[in-house]
Amino acid sequence: MNTTESLYEELRQSLKDHQISNNETLIEQHSHDESYHHPSAPDLIVFPESTADVEAVVKIANAYDKPVVPYGLGTSLEGHIIPYDHGITIDFSQMDRVLEVRENDFLVKVQPGVTRSQLNKELKKYGLFFSVDPGADATLGGMAATNASGTTSVKYGVMRDQVRDLEIVLADGEVIHTGNLAQKSSSGYNLNSLFVGSEGTLGCITELTLRVYGIPEHVTAARASFPTVDDAVEAVVSILQAGVPIARVELVDEPSMKQANLFSETHYKEQPTLFLEFHGNEPGLKHDVEFTQEIVQDHQCEEIYFEDDNAARNQLWEARHNLAHAFVHGHPGKKLMVTDVCVPISELAGAIKHAREKVNELALNGGIVGHVGDGNYHILLMMDMEDPEELNKSEQLNEQIVEYALARGGTCTGEHGVGIGKMKYQEKEHGSALHVMEKIKRALDPNGRFNPYKLVHQREENE
Ligand SMILES: Cc1cc2nc3c(=O)[nH]c(=O)nc-3n(C[C@H](O)[C@H](O)[C@H](O)COP(=O)(O)OP(=O)(O)OC[C@H]3O[C@@H](n4cnc5c(N)ncnc54)[C@H](O)[C@@H]3O)c2cc1C
Repeated sequence: MNTTESLYEELRQSLKDHQISNNETLIEQHSHDESYHHPSAPDLIVFPESTADVEAVVKIANAYDKPVVPYGLGTSLEGHIIPYDHGITIDFSQMDRVLEVRENDFLVKVQPGVTRSQLNKELKKYGLFFSVDPGADATLGGMAATNASGTTSVKYGVMRDQVRDLEIVLADGEVIHTGNLAQKSSSGYNLNSLFVGSEGTLGCITELTLRVYGIPEHVTAARASFPTVDDAVEAVVSILQAGVPIARVELVDEPSMKQANLFSETHYKEQPTLFLEFHGNEPGLKHDVEFTQEIVQDHQCEEIYFEDDNAARNQLWEARHNLAHAFVHGHPGKKLMVTDVCVPISELAGAIKHAREKVNELALNGGIVGHVGDGNYHILLMMDMEDPEELNKSEQLNEQIVEYALARGGTCTGEHGVGIGKMKYQEKEHGSALHVMEKIKRALDPNGRFNPYKLVHQREENE
């Protein structure tokens, strides 16, 4: 019996047969994410149904010196879930229960495999919603592990702002809670913040307590078209500087509008566009909308179109959320690379201008979209993996975009995370603080058990 076979047998002592798999199709599915990063297969996949199952798997992985990669839905974009050292992938899809809705506390307790749309469907019954909405219908465990954000973060904050408590299985199999149910706390180090964004490198999240919000009384969405991307970005800066409590403000450039129309069968004007949304009560909303209209007109807005009814609003946001898929669909056989820098808002217009110049200089085919209210924007590039020149130029572009952002006090990743793809920028971005992160990793996971070769740590043989 080889090691993988005996590992399989050992896992069968703690889990049911249907919870362990080496099925070829499943192994292939768990060997890659949605990006261009090279795949690598796990030896086995396990599907825990409880915290006790996760504890058992981690202890067995320790006994067999096998790495463990936590897996939500595999929608990450920087190779986060690719098991470069093989071992066990823990797929959380069977831990998918909404455990408790504390409507008076605006809190919800969930298992990590619950997806954001599943949660929102449940919360709707209580007049509540969960605010963070990355483009993919990701799991809440994966979203916490990457500190995900989305179109509404300009108003409600990112994943880190929503987490009150996490249950974590640590590398030695111990189970801890990182927070509590209170609205605020000055007690001890902030472990919620440490584990949010840790990308499965410090432990497995087995339960989350999250903040939720009342569904706003009124919602209005709008599409505003501009002659240039610069005009659109400058309008956003003015809206934010004027203190308009905008709930969503997204930039979609001309090539991306074309792609959105093709994929979503919409007929939106193919010009640089802002997708906007306002939440509030009727009089407040009316004031915000009028004020915004005045501001965008000062920035050469050519047309602003309001979507008040539910169906049109959903179509608008679906078109926005589907943009990455629209690019993938429009370029069969190619792989997606998405840049993800975030800069201080005063640097945003310059950053996007620089990005467009670099895309043109390198003669690449890319669309620019962004959560511009946060200073976060993406270039969506479709790469032919068989074309070394195109690959090289895309890498070059990514690097130039990151360098530009870092030189202006920004970050190499606003929301997608480090994974394998952004490791090379960590020293430059964090300096000696990276060594503190490495020490934290070694203290919590001395054998490099969790998600090796990601974020900070290279797993050495028999370390
Ligand atoms: C079309 C598209 C659009 C996207 N748009 C956005 C966007 O707007 N904003 C954004 O932030 N991201 C976006 N993303 C990236 C991705 O959706 C997010 O990073 C998301 O949070 C990943 O969730 P997941 O459930 O797929 O996790 P996975 O990809 O499975 O895992 C992500 C990371 O979390 C770790 N992990 C997963 N579950 C656990 C757990 N229970 N315990 C510990 N660690 C765990 C994994 O080890 C891995 O490091 C987009 C991706 C796509 C494909």
